[in-house]
Amino acid sequence: MLQTLRRIVQEVNSTRDLSQVLEIIVRRVKKAIEADVCSIYLFDNDEAKFTLMATDGLNEQLVGQVHMESSAGLVSLVAQRTDPLNLDDAQEHPRFELFTDLNEERFHSFTGIPITHHREVLGVLVAQSESRIRFSHDVVNFLVTIAAQLAGSIINAQATRQTLTLSKQTDSKQSTTFIRQDHRPLTGQPGSPGIAVGSAVSITSSFSLNAVPDRPAENIEDEMIVFRIALESVRQDIKSLSSQLLSDGLPTEDVAIFDAYLLMLDSNTLIDSTMEKIQAGNWAAGALRETISEHIKLFGEMDNPYLQERVKDIRDLGQCIFNQMHGINELPLKKLSKDTIIVAEDISATLLADIEKTNISGIVLKNGSRTSHVAILARAMGIPTVVGVNELPVMQLDGNQLVADGYNGKVYISPPDNIIKEYSRLISQEEELSQELRELSDKPATTIDEVTIPLYANSGLVADITPTKESGAEGIGLYRTEYPFMIRQRFPGEEEQSKIYREVMASLAPRPVVLRTLDIGGDKSLSYFPIEEDNPFLGWRGIRVTLDHPEIFMIQLRAMLIASVGLDNLNILFPMVSKVSEVEDAINLLERAYQELLAEGYNVEMPKVGVMVEVPSVVFQMRRIASMVDFISIGTNDLIQYLMAVDRNNANVADLYESLNPAVLTAIKQVIDQAHQENVPVSVCGEMAGDPLAAILLLGMSIDSLSTSVASLPRIKWMIRNYSFHEAKGLVDKALTMKNAYVIKSMLTSSMEKKGLGGLIRAGR
Ligand code: PEP
Ligand code: MG
Repeated sequence: MLQTLRRIVQEVNSTRDLSQVLEIIVRRVKKAIEADVCSIYLFDNDEAKFTLMATDGLNEQLVGQVHMESSAGLVSLVAQRTDPLNLDDAQEHPRFELFTDLNEERFHSFTGIPITHHREVLGVLVAQSESRIRFSHDVVNFLVTIAAQLAGSIINAQATRQTLTLSKQTDSKQSTTFIRQDHRPLTGQPGSPGIAVGSAVSITSSFSLNAVPDRPAENIEDEMIVFRIALESVRQDIKSLSSQLLSDGLPTEDVAIFDAYLLMLDSNTLIDSTMEKIQAGNWAAGALRETISEHIKLFGEMDNPYLQERVKDIRDLGQCIFNQMHGINELPLKKLSKDTIIVAEDISATLLADIEKTNISGIVLKNGSRTSHVAILARAMGIPTVVGVNELPVMQLDGNQLVADGYNGKVYISPPDNIIKEYSRLISQEEELSQELRELSDKPATTIDEVTIPLYANSGLVADITPTKESGAEGIGLYRTEYPFMIRQRFPGEEEQSKIYREVMASLAPRPVVLRTLDIGGDKSLSYFPIEEDNPFLGWRGIRVTLDHPEIFMIQLRAMLIASVGLDNLNILFPMVSKVSEVEDAINLLERAYQELLAEGYNVEMPKVGVMVEVPSVVFQMRRIASMVDFISIGTNDLIQYLMAVDRNNANVADLYESLNPAVLTAIKQVIDQAHQENVPVSVCGEMAGDPLAAILLLGMSIDSLSTSVASLPRIKWMIRNYSFHEAKGLVDKALTMKNAYVIKSMLTSSMEKKGLGGLIRAGR
């Protein structure tokens, strides 16, 4: 059964069309369980009815035409119960309804399995047989397993077909345009505030052939050449690899696979089919992806296990050709223009750091969440971003017009003129608001009752420095040193690092700069220092890595100290601390670096030292840790992730990542209160500091300073200048009596709207 299950899932996942997906499921499942009928009914939200979408065994003419009310019939009963129903004679059941045209009179045994995705019932998978014998437990369990596995594939195929028009329209440039019929937006998470209206460019950073989008070929001849060259290079590579292995003494039979590859490369079906697709207007990589997935489907369907095994070879071969092509025909990041909206499954922070900000107006990602590093970077760059759009049909969007609403996490695909007009109006209002906010840059963040909260900027790129200076930030509250490490091919040396840090510190002096020591691991990796772990966020991260590699740590600490000579505005922050001894060890190494430099004749000052609160264990050791350092900085991005056990990058659980959850607020308040008892100031440098709603509460909890992206800073300043500390404290007291994040958010939203500050948390003024 497992083998069958795998084959069905594999086949379905290589298909994108909804009706094909459903058809494969019903045919394969019926055969696998030896039933007389297998059907799928999907729920239509607008009509509040179930519709027969595929069947093998009933009257296929009625697919799409049989509708069932959500309160009648066995199918809806299964959905209501969200539980499988297994009957020996369905016709005896009081909820049974007979659809005579379906020809189902002769079927008695019935089992119905709800197909659910994220708690929502999408439809029901039904098997029926003529006999009056119930389906076995094994069959029911098999159906439950398959329904659970296929729900995601159905959602994806639905997103491509139902949310986009059923018909593809071809414009004069042969690009494929999709028109949404109902103009409902796709929903994700707000990644970076702002609105973008522009044209989608689908990109892949994973370089997986499977993730290659369709894209109109700019020049069909060129694309054919790209494909031919790639084919020839792969052919040469395989030949030389094969003869190399033979001369290394590998038995001929082990090398035979390469002959099979060569045969496949020369096969007319592979070449002709790809060429045809290029001639039809797709670029070479898209055409290759289509051909390979057709081959995979064909071989996967065969009953011969040997031929099924070839699926993997075909996939590998396709990937090899694509890799070659990729070298010839770079994905078009360099061709981005001003109104481009990047659409991707995911992109790396490194890739984003490489893009000229002026070249894109927005980003829409299928994966990720508000606190993934790519979202943080997008906020730092001021690029409106929507993340975690589960239903995003990445491959089909290239060239389509999009509206990305980074406040509400909504994406409109090829919207009608009135939606574009409305969003363009909001964009001009935003520009007005930004202009007014810019005018605040030389004013302090002082509340109505005269409490001033210094606002610092988060940074990590040298390019951030000018905007930081112009933003009116009091300094840099978090400089993520890993970015300069990420864009290199090896660890930067003492001199190299020192130069970067000096540039940052000198341009801001005498304003303070907080340099955080290297925080790699988790979702930040260095290509030249791979860390392979099953559970990277609970693994070797931040201070754990640098304490284990004192040579790397010492170079960085020395570079920071050397950079600070004569400026004396350096503060050093340790990330991912989870216990007291790590703080002791880090301070000891810093002390050692300092003494070394003094002995070498540098005129260095000992910097202020801080610890990040990111791991819950630190919350409970706050007084002791605070007593060892000069300042505390709360990294709410990780603190929430670890407190709530919600992966900050996982779109599937992004709804559970709640910065306003009472547990989070209580923990933060505890940190601030305890550190204050040791007379140690506390800052927040996580993304909460840049969210106006959360920042009111931080103000009311007596936070000493906030550090946020330059793009968010003016909004936070505006909010602080419109509240009194007293009011903010009142909101904290109220919030801490509330049960959940939802009510806390509503209370804060209505407070901001009452003050006329709604424009800080949504589009428009
Ligand atoms: C945090 O965890 O809140 C933080 C600021 O660090 P990073 O986002 O770089 O992990
Ligand atoms: Mg962190």
